[in-house]
Amino acid sequence: MNATQQAQHCAADPDGLRHALDGAEIVPLLTTLVQITGRTEFLDKARPYISGGWNFQQTIPDALRNEIREALFDALRDVGTKGIVIPEQPDARLVGAMMNVAVGQEVPDIYKPVLRDEMNFGGIDHRRVDWRRTPAAEELDAFLAVIVGAGHSGIVAAIKMQEAGIPHVIIEKNADVGGTWLENVYPGCGVDTPCHFYSYAFEPNADWTQYFVKRDELLSYVHRTVEKYGIRKKIRFSEEVTRAEYDRERALWIVRTRHSDGREQTLECNVLVTAVGALNRPAIPDIPGRSSFKGKAFHTAQWDKSADLRGKRVALIGTGASGLQVGPAIAAEVERLTIFQRSPHWVINHPLYHADVPAAVRWAMKYIPFYASWFRFQLFWAASDGFHSTLKMDPNWTDPKHSLNAANAKMREDLIAHVRSELAGREELLEKVIPDYPPFGKRMLRDTHWYKMLRRPSVELVSGRIDRIEEHAVVSGGVSYPTDIIVFATGFQASRMLWPMHIVGKDGVSLRDIWGDDDPRAHLGITVPGFPNFFMIYGPNTNLAHGGSAIFHSECQVRYIMLAIRELIEGRHRSMEVRQAPFEAYNARLDVALKQMSWSHPSVTNWYKNKSGRVVMNSPWRLVDYRNLTNEIDVSEYVFDDAAPHVIKNALASREALTG
Ligand code: NAP
Repeated sequence: MNATQQAQHCAADPDGLRHALDGAEIVPLLTTLVQITGRTEFLDKARPYISGGWNFQQTIPDALRNEIREALFDALRDVGTKGIVIPEQPDARLVGAMMNVAVGQEVPDIYKPVLRDEMNFGGIDHRRVDWRRTPAAEELDAFLAVIVGAGHSGIVAAIKMQEAGIPHVIIEKNADVGGTWLENVYPGCGVDTPCHFYSYAFEPNADWTQYFVKRDELLSYVHRTVEKYGIRKKIRFSEEVTRAEYDRERALWIVRTRHSDGREQTLECNVLVTAVGALNRPAIPDIPGRSSFKGKAFHTAQWDKSADLRGKRVALIGTGASGLQVGPAIAAEVERLTIFQRSPHWVINHPLYHADVPAAVRWAMKYIPFYASWFRFQLFWAASDGFHSTLKMDPNWTDPKHSLNAANAKMREDLIAHVRSELAGREELLEKVIPDYPPFGKRMLRDTHWYKMLRRPSVELVSGRIDRIEEHAVVSGGVSYPTDIIVFATGFQASRMLWPMHIVGKDGVSLRDIWGDDDPRAHLGITVPGFPNFFMIYGPNTNLAHGGSAIFHSECQVRYIMLAIRELIEGRHRSMEVRQAPFEAYNARLDVALKQMSWSHPSVTNWYKNKSGRVVMNSPWRLVDYRNLTNEIDVSEYVFDDAAPHVIKNALASREALTG
């Protein structure tokens, strides 16, 4: 539905509209009202009462709320009954003022284009890359891109290639789409980024039932998107890319795959895009005696559905994002839950983490024009760059062991206040759970009712190293904890990026040769010198750790990759390869920026660092910076091979044969 049709729907269902206006959040209603009517006096009236992007950061008085609701009710009724057409795009002269009021802060101009990308007014995908010279059918038919992985990021790459008519195949090791949301089925599994933001900007979802939904609902969204865009037929399931080698003579990637039934195949393509994530190769620590354990033992990402936890003594090893979700989800059913915490994490409370999205809000998302766009804008603001600057170490800070700067110290106090209120009267627990490193040194976690769970008599938190595992126990600090089942919530081999794939570039040198075991680097996290026509999504230093959404980054990266492919095809080039100089200059800048950030803090261990302590996973940039770095491609940073492009004979036909 376009905005006018939405308004007509509202006018035709006044009871539904009344109900939605009463229950929906007031700030997106306010901005909708101003966008439809141009009545800026409402911005002036509401301004003093809004201090941030979350609904709980506004205190608009009831009288003004009612005024906004009534005015919007009338405006929507008028659109429906008077044949008015609502422009899909906001008035450029008003949009800045609307943004400032909606989040109670001055939104710098640099954010305006990003927010335009994110808000999807009129259903326009501003990140979409259109042809400047429409290629001839034969040019496209002779081209093939291989995408590795059908998780969130591989799917967006496939959708955008399909829109541009670029022949492509997706190779997926699992039997279905969804990546992390397919693989992780552990109890409590869900997202801790607000899901109205953790969704494609070009494919908003008005139906989320919670602000932070669980895994099944995320997977359904992925399925719906895949079906809507018809990309399933391009996916080869249960097939893993084992090796890819660049054939310099022919400027082609030779991709070798192994099917789960053991069959091996080879295919050739012009462009190789990896979209394999980094958090899917479990890290199970080699604790002495591990193999002697007689009960079931499994990793969170390989949850054993046959394991019945009821009445069992369960050892949960690890207290990162996965452990924090599993613990509260199983605590009530097990006989005893012993949690082994090597080091504590900072945990933040979010009032909406456990909340359902009220039916009125869902109605508003669907039918009140622009409501969903403004809601997403508020989330973007509240959950991304807002406190990026507070995560930088102040070299003159007086307490560098515990915090980074004054704002970070204040955050530390607020976080401790939450823990204290949750664990009042349990001093022995408080001592164990308050980290001694600065907030955001490790990934910030959401309070999943973790502290409430720790108060349960059947739950014990054991802090410190594990000595060994025995046949029926886990031993720590010399104490033996009888155990029937072990859950390893011990994370992933993240920094071994793209492992175990073997990717060999134009000089016969592999990524592993260059990166070693765990020191990956790339230009913008996407391209590597020596590896022509090779692009990564969620590559080195692109993980977002201050906020934002991984989907935002993957949409930025896919735009950049599409710009690159457009250069290749329109320019009739065989290949493009990033030059050494911009790669090095980018990485030098990256290292300087990273060194200041919380995750590089010397006292912190985290999965962002490699064995030598360099942060190889995280981006140091604000979302707006990374968007601007990837929004256009600087072709001078690339060497193009202008020999006639290699034609993959019948690429289109072979693609279709390959995917059936
Ligand atoms: P993780 O953050 O790496 O946490 C691993 C945990 O295992 C840490 O507590 C770690 O302790 C502990 N550990 C590792 N080796 C150990 C050993 N030998 N003995 C005792 N403890 C050991 O892994 P994760 O919890 O699976 O999360 C990984 C990432 O996945 C997250 O940061 C997030 O990006 C993503 N994730 C996201 C969500 C979501 O809601 N969106 C949910 C789950 C996961 P130390 O801290 O001392 O190293």
